[in-house]
Amino acid sequence: MKLCAATACTGCAACLNICPKQCISMEEGLNGHLFPVCNEADCINCGLCEKVCPVNTDIEKREPMATYAAWNTNLEVQKKSTSGGISAMLAKAIVEEQGIVYGAAFDKSWSVVHVRCETLEDLDALRTSKYVQSKIGDTYRRVQSDLKADKKVMFVGTPCQVAGLKSFLRADYEKLYTADLVCHGVPSDKIYREELAYLADTDKLKWVYFRGRFAAGYGYGFIFDYGDRTEKFPLRQSYYIRGFMDGLFFRESCYSCRYATKERLGDITIGDFWGIGKSVPFNNPEKRRVSLALINTEKGRDWFDAIKAELHFEERELMEAVNGNPQLRKPIAKPEQYEKFKKLYPSIGYLKAMQRTFPKMRLRLLLEKLLRKKS
Ligand SMILES: Cc1cc2nc3c(=O)[nH]c(=O)nc-3n(C[C@H](O)[C@H](O)[C@H](O)COP(=O)(O)OP(=O)(O)OC[C@H]3O[C@@H](n4cnc5c(N)ncnc54)[C@H](O)[C@@H]3O)c2cc1C
Repeated sequence: MKLCAATACTGCAACLNICPKQCISMEEGLNGHLFPVCNEADCINCGLCEKVCPVNTDIEKREPMATYAAWNTNLEVQKKSTSGGISAMLAKAIVEEQGIVYGAAFDKSWSVVHVRCETLEDLDALRTSKYVQSKIGDTYRRVQSDLKADKKVMFVGTPCQVAGLKSFLRADYEKLYTADLVCHGVPSDKIYREELAYLADTDKLKWVYFRGRFAAGYGYGFIFDYGDRTEKFPLRQSYYIRGFMDGLFFRESCYSCRYATKERLGDITIGDFWGIGKSVPFNNPEKRRVSLALINTEKGRDWFDAIKAELHFEERELMEAVNGNPQLRKPIAKPEQYEKFKKLYPSIGYLKAMQRTFPKMRLRLLLEKLLRKKS
């Protein structure tokens, strides 16, 4: 069977989910990313994998009907979220109507996987952005079976995952609610776990934050929560976060992402409202983190209306969001060091490859370590 080219594959796993013989598995390839591999011996050449691959399909994208700046008025919920805490509200609204929510959570070994949530307690696992590609597994099949059982279902994920789900379903379900994230690009679970093994005591971890409050203010970086203490590695001290921000080890498909546009796939798109207030004043006296919510369909509008009572929100111009958020305009570009890391990583391993890719950072970290020892 002809699966899509590795350079175009988003790793959405629609092919794995559709295969009637279950002869497709996801195997590690370039930079540890997962790619579908077909066990030809069991393949019956039904062609379904090719048919549902979003690379070969056009999934409808729509220009947003409305653009909101918003945050959750419940400070505790927002504190547990990465941005304005909108996704937690959208999920709560679905569960309160006996619906099911699928989103990204940590598994026991701190890998990021899509999980099924039925209760408000289950939703706790979805909080915060995990800046790594989550493993979809058989999620689309499970979504379909919930929809067939006439349940309301929310699916939240990166745009390519929403595309994967829609391609797999090949039908419109009235009870399916989709939220796509504005997405910068995804590193692999393999690379992320290599950084964890180097920086954290994974046996004792209670949570991994990819953004949070550091000495210099709220920003990107790892915060490892051990329950009785936290350990912080701001952007300048974490090779992974630096690599994530620069787009050093994303999937090849991220650099030509078809979904990095202002036309969107989900009923609602959520992201950060970067640049708000630059062109038109914005009043945020409490200095709350501001989320972006793009309403893309009538269903999305009803969904947003259902959570408005628990939000602070303000309608803004779409172009304000587009101007502030590059991934609503175009895919991220490959950084200068992309090829260097790609070549080094398989031969010398993650840490050494990062140290050689960012030699100045390595020197600074060594100096800081020496100074800490002296004091
Ligand atoms: C890989 C990645 C890249 C992103 N890049 C950008 C960007 O360039 N610009 C921008 O404005 N926003 C980006 N975001 C979105 C942003 O980080 C926030 O998730 C978003 O603003 C929603 O914030 P929140 O407070 O409502 O929810 P959060 O607290 O962020 O809640 C997280 C929600 O996102 C889902 N989620 C978390 N991690 C993943 C994952 N790895 N894969 C799929 N779903 C996940 C969870 O299921 C949950 O529903 C990115 C998110 C991810 C996961």
